[in-house]
Amino acid sequence: MNKKDNVLIIGVGLCGSLLALRLAQRGFKVEVYESRPDLRKVDISAGRSINLALSDRGLKALRLCGMEEKAREICIPMYGRLMHDKQGNTFSSNYSGREGEYINSISRGDLNALLLNEAEKHENVTIHFNKKCKKVDIENTTAYFKDTETNEDFSEKATVIFGADGAGSALRKSYISERKFLFSYSQNYLNHGYKELEIPADKNGNHQISKGHLHIWPRGDFMLIALPNMDGSFTVTLFLSYDEGEFNFNNLTSEEKITEFFQKEFPDALVLIPNILEEFTNNPTGPLGTVKCSPWSYQNNLLLGDAAHAIVPFYGQGMNASFEDVFVLDEILNHFERSREIESWETVFKAYQKTRKKDTDAIADLAIDNFFEMRDHVANPLFKEKRKIEMDLEKHFPNQYFSKYSLVTFNEHIGYQEAMNKGRAQDKALLNLIADDEVHTHLNMTKDELEIILEKVNKQTEEILQEDKIAGL
Ligand code: FAD
Repeated sequence: MNKKDNVLIIGVGLCGSLLALRLAQRGFKVEVYESRPDLRKVDISAGRSINLALSDRGLKALRLCGMEEKAREICIPMYGRLMHDKQGNTFSSNYSGREGEYINSISRGDLNALLLNEAEKHENVTIHFNKKCKKVDIENTTAYFKDTETNEDFSEKATVIFGADGAGSALRKSYISERKFLFSYSQNYLNHGYKELEIPADKNGNHQISKGHLHIWPRGDFMLIALPNMDGSFTVTLFLSYDEGEFNFNNLTSEEKITEFFQKEFPDALVLIPNILEEFTNNPTGPLGTVKCSPWSYQNNLLLGDAAHAIVPFYGQGMNASFEDVFVLDEILNHFERSREIESWETVFKAYQKTRKKDTDAIADLAIDNFFEMRDHVANPLFKEKRKIEMDLEKHFPNQYFSKYSLVTFNEHIGYQEAMNKGRAQDKALLNLIADDEVHTHLNMTKDELEIILEKVNKQTEEILQEDKIAGL
């Protein structure tokens, strides 16, 4: 492995663009091939995932590449969830009881454009748009492309190939089709899909509902969420079953039925979405799935980001995890550089997966858990009481108590797996204590009262973690 190696990256979405930038900063010669046109010149959003929640793990990776400040300039902080019931009443639930812990709404396109601009400042990076990878000869690290403008086919040989080409990865498909090694692969779809709609800005260009929150309309089997944009609008996402329940994507086919659904379930949102019928009919319905596979690498080929581990979006961590992939890979490269071991890309990739896979498996499972939490539990009284105690504990014991959400979202120095194990045990402990009437809350808890709760939670959490260890969980 040396700096003269030709690095080829397939896909210049969020992960591919950050990877290209980091490898260029490390001095490698990087060629990137992207199937779509340059999003800085052509609008390619086509009604899909317009904004995203960026949080500390993603910011950590952006910081590594000197991009944190530029990204923060286009972020809108969201301090908590604002739940909307059917009567139009709202209640809020902060993401953290600590000061300065929040997530950020950011435009996918603008963030991607920032990273592309920065990557292209390096003369050792070339980005080729409209070049769709058809397959990869993984033994000869040769990728085969079609130029989508000219229809011409061509191939490129490289020293090393990274597949950052998203959930439908061509490199991953080549792992399967080439049958050169034992490749385990699973793709699990939810019965729910998603569709994006828009709450436009008011006539003065301002947000019509609080821009400091991620809005949720939880309805048990389905939900609506909304994240703010810089131009005063909100991107609204409906998560709904394709074919189950009274209303589903398959039967919402007439204007009457769409209006009836929104009037019945989301009346306060409906009045804010003037183009509901047009948008509902024209915007695509996207599937939601989890991809797990192993190994991620074969010889000098490696899958990164959604190509290796696509997850459902309910923890707001898919992009963050994909950015963190770049951070972890960078750490592995540093490790080999420091130890002066004779390293090959193959060795680096194996070490990377060994460190990383347990964490991406964990966030995939956590994201499914959060699907149920967001669409249903957030409105449950027991859940609300638990969150109230957690906020108080975080406020009064900021260095001692971290809720599961905080461990996953704001504790970027620990892996997702550790966050999951500790967070799940803590949740169980707290819910047991509430259900057994062992902890009580009231509006103004004193620090002494909270300290007793903290001790009980910590003790039970430890016991649960020990039991899990014995059970091999
Ligand atoms: P992608 O963003 O999919 O990029 C892959 C790139 O490869 C694309 O540019 C594509 O055009 C290109 N490509 C694909 N195939 C080929 C080919 N054959 N040849 C060449 N190029 C190719 N994550 C969060 O962290 N926070 C959120 O709030 C959040 N919300 C989400 C909401 C929704 C509805 C969805 C669906 C996802 C959400 N995510 C969120 C997840 C996030 O979008 C992904 O995890 C992230 O985009 C992964 O980045 P990636 O670069 O690996 O893949």
